[in-house]
Amino acid sequence: MILLVGDRPFDLRPTKIVAVARNYKAHAEEMNVDLPKEPSLFLKPPSSLLANGGEVLLHQSSARIDHEVELAVVMKSRAKRITTEYVKENVLGYTILVDITARDIQAEAKKSGMPWTVAKGYDTFAPIGPRIVPVDEIDEKNLDIWLKINGVYKQRGNTNQMIFTVEEIVSHISHIMTLEPLDVIATGTPSGVGPMHDGDTIEAGIENIGTLRFKAARIH
Ligand code: MG
Repeated sequence: MILLVGDRPFDLRPTKIVAVARNYKAHAEEMNVDLPKEPSLFLKPPSSLLANGGEVLLHQSSARIDHEVELAVVMKSRAKRITTEYVKENVLGYTILVDITARDIQAEAKKSGMPWTVAKGYDTFAPIGPRIVPVDEIDEKNLDIWLKINGVYKQRGNTNQMIFTVEEIVSHISHIMTLEPLDVIATGTPSGVGPMHDGDTIEAGIENIGTLRFKAARIH
């Protein structure tokens, strides 16, 4: 998976993608769920990654496939049981990840108490990029974050609305599973999630990082 670091192409091959559900209050409210007491986690497979300029495949097994724009953390070094003050020195930088979700499959899973693996795990369900901004070049606590479909704003927020900080999220995950170099952590989405349709052009942006672009295409 090729991204840019500065002007240089960089091959990002994470061992895992860890994602945080409902880390923005407004999104938790729109999903009708209680605010979490600790980061609520799920995994997306590395095979779901899609490079900038790619095509998200709207699989026929779902009737509603949503976008969720998220700030993503890329790890620099192995992290196991680290406290919050050591998180930043183990982080390479930040990028944009869109956590694509088959909403109807997820709703069915929630109802029957099954995991979200299918809803979150199809190929192309994790567009990422266009570049990784080094950790010390950005204040991740105050960045505008947005997503447009066909030029129209659908999601607009700021990372200052996060419930758990990057330090709290990474520290928490590292007490459960060892984070390896280049592992990716998606930190949750602001409100305004909604469906994509065949032929849509999607732009996902974060201030001081850039704009990630992709298309949506129905497959049969
Ligand atoms: Mg998400």
